[in-house]
Amino acid sequence: MKKRDVIIVGGGASGICCAINLKRANKNLSVTVLEQNDKILKKLLKTGNGKCNIGNENITKDRYHNFDFFKENIPSFDIKKYFLDMGILLKKDEIGRLYPYCESASNVVDILRNEADRLKVEVITEFTVTDIKKTKLNYEIYGKENYQTNVLVLACGSIAQSHTNGYELARNLNHTVTDLKAGLTPIKVKEDVKSLQGIRIKCRAIANDFARDGEILFKENGISGILSLELSRYVSNNDKIVLDLVPNVDEKYIENFIENKAKSQRYDRDSLLIALSGMLPKMLSLLIIKKSKNIEEIVKNIKNLTLTVDSLYGFNNSQIVVGGVDIKDIYSTFESKINNNLFIIGEMLDVDGDCGGYNLYFAWLSAYICSNSIIKENFTKS
Ligand SMILES: Cc1cc2nc3c(=O)[nH]c(=O)nc-3n(C[C@H](O)[C@H](O)[C@H](O)COP(=O)(O)OP(=O)(O)OC[C@H]3O[C@@H](n4cnc5c(N)ncnc54)[C@H](O)[C@@H]3O)c2cc1C
Repeated sequence: MKKRDVIIVGGGASGICCAINLKRANKNLSVTVLEQNDKILKKLLKTGNGKCNIGNENITKDRYHNFDFFKENIPSFDIKKYFLDMGILLKKDEIGRLYPYCESASNVVDILRNEADRLKVEVITEFTVTDIKKTKLNYEIYGKENYQTNVLVLACGSIAQSHTNGYELARNLNHTVTDLKAGLTPIKVKEDVKSLQGIRIKCRAIANDFARDGEILFKENGISGILSLELSRYVSNNDKIVLDLVPNVDEKYIENFIENKAKSQRYDRDSLLIALSGMLPKMLSLLIIKKSKNIEEIVKNIKNLTLTVDSLYGFNNSQIVVGGVDIKDIYSTFESKINNNLFIIGEMLDVDGDCGGYNLYFAWLSAYICSNSIIKENFTKS
């Protein structure tokens, strides 16, 4: 069996950054990343619609679910400096989302890959870890070759638009995996919204405990866009979603607006359509007029367009997975409470964030804390 100081299973965002951090801290460590795909960082390429929404300026616990294992504040991690040191300059947009200036996930992948190469991180692709055994002294890792290591990091990601047996590997090491559900995923609705396909609208969505403003993109049979991706965590089949299509305008104002515009003409479909044309996209106006018997109902539907959840799109369409390795068995250093020198990081854990860079931020943060802790506990600097 080949022996390494640290083995990392998974060459995604968290795994590669963990390897880079370890080699930066101690270049003499033998650090090997085992990746099942033919290339590392494949999911990163898809992020932020290819622009890579790499993080967010406003990191607070309430943007995450299950972040409570950091008892006090979230440990400080200067993401801008971290990526600047790597040669990636970040900028923020109007709502605090961080992107590389180049707006290219592919450039970010190239830079991370080059940095891993420069530091002589050993990366072995097309290597699926099929089994891990804990012995008295260390861990044995099985795949197309077999390895031994004292320090093992599981960074296997999730099954959102991907596949992994990582949860199984964790279970075999006596960890519990909570129920898995598609997260940040489009929502299928029962109503016929086909005519609205492709329309984007800034609105307010209200359902169960959720009430937030943002953008919705209508799909052939449902809704997508950041607002509905975030909403997806709060709804189940048959729940009602209420959309306020003009959130900052009250009903009386809208009623007067429509009446003033339409009164010069007849209150027929065409004159109502003209009246609504300064407020809503045409196809949305048509749908609302079709649903309403009079102006009162038009106003009601503009302020409370109700959709019924048919189902959520599954893992093949979701950005993340809600659920994962139970954090009750994980220290805030990301070390396992069950197995010494086993660390679990990134999306594999039962931690998930909102849309807007929060999930990648967690991948970088967990890699950073985990690598610091590995160095502190196991290896002295050279
Ligand atoms: C379409 C899409 C867009 C997204 N956009 C954003 C965004 O803009 N901003 C944001 O913050 N988040 C975004 N996310 C979420 C974000 O990409 C993930 O949260 C993040 O990549 C998780 O990093 P990770 O290292 O935990 O997992 P991953 O990046 O998924 O890496 C895990 C790696 O482990 C490998 N692996 C798994 N099992 C094994 C095994 N047994 N043996 C060997 N290798 C294995 C996998 O092949 C994979 O390469 C998006 C996700 C998707 C799907």
